[in-house]
Amino acid sequence: MKNFFLGYACIAFLAAGCSSNKGSSTTATDEGAKPYLELIQAEQLRKHLFIVASDEMEGRNTGEPGQKKAGEYLINQYKKMGVGFPKRATTYYQPIPSEFFKKAFSPKLGDSENIWAFIEGTEKPDEILVISAHYDHVGMKNGEVYNGADDDGSGTVALLELAAAFQKAKKDGKGPKRSILFLHVTGEEHGLHGSRFYAENPLYDLKATIANINIDMIGRRGYGKEENDNYVYVIGSDRLSTDLHRISEEANTKYVGLELDYKYNDLNDPNRFYYRSDHYNFAKKGIPAIFYFNGVHDDYHKPTDTPDKIDYPLLAKRARLAFAVAWELANAKERPLVDKDGK
Ligand SMILES: [Zn+2]
Repeated sequence: MKNFFLGYACIAFLAAGCSSNKGSSTTATDEGAKPYLELIQAEQLRKHLFIVASDEMEGRNTGEPGQKKAGEYLINQYKKMGVGFPKRATTYYQPIPSEFFKKAFSPKLGDSENIWAFIEGTEKPDEILVISAHYDHVGMKNGEVYNGADDDGSGTVALLELAAAFQKAKKDGKGPKRSILFLHVTGEEHGLHGSRFYAENPLYDLKATIANINIDMIGRRGYGKEENDNYVYVIGSDRLSTDLHRISEEANTKYVGLELDYKYNDLNDPNRFYYRSDHYNFAKKGIPAIFYFNGVHDDYHKPTDTPDKIDYPLLAKRARLAFAVAWELANAKERPLVDKDGK
């Protein structure tokens, strides 16, 4: 999650290009997701996160060795589970030159990379669902590591487990009907750069991109929710597509049972979270986007955002929701209809 001041500087009006994504209403599928969603477990998430958010990764600042090391860990996990890079790519990396990160009043950042993995759809391989999480964080300051366990180590490791669960389904002959791109974006903390780079240089035509599920900070309990072990904030789901919103609600009811809190989806939300994570670069292009988020807490953007403070069962539950929504989107008869103007 990008900090407020950067976010505020980036306010832009939504492009009106929403007319290209036509489709009719989607229908929910059966309960096929259940055995795979249950593969997403707290213990495995913990194992990954204690590595991704370890001091060794030096706070994963964009373009620095610690981030690249974390990226290598992610790629090795995909290799282990047998999930390859997209067919159209030649590696797991989408390179982004340092120049692209240039911004007034910002430090110069090194060359960096988005990381992608891909599971090809069985029936509509050319239609793409993008599931994103940023794997960069803010690095080190005064010799202290900013581990970024929640921000966004939590989303990063959730993506790994979603991919593993989809891959198991595929092995069982139940792979997603549409293709899924697992996109670990870089440069988020410095201004949503990695997702903007992808949206400007997409591997697959954005017209064929049916939706974006973005996961940024799902491992903790935010302010005012300290006693609540069963909620998630949902942002953006209804801005472009009634179908996407409905699918998120139905998948939650059917499979997970979290309290879905729409407080920050309010158009007048002073925090402006809708504009502060990577889904926004997809929404801007007229792609239905949904953002799962736990809210901010005392350790947000501090060296104390460490993996020991994560609520792993809650992280698993939220990851399961993202999986269930992805499953429904990837397997629904029709892609979600864009029937709203994005505001
Ligand atoms: Zn952040």
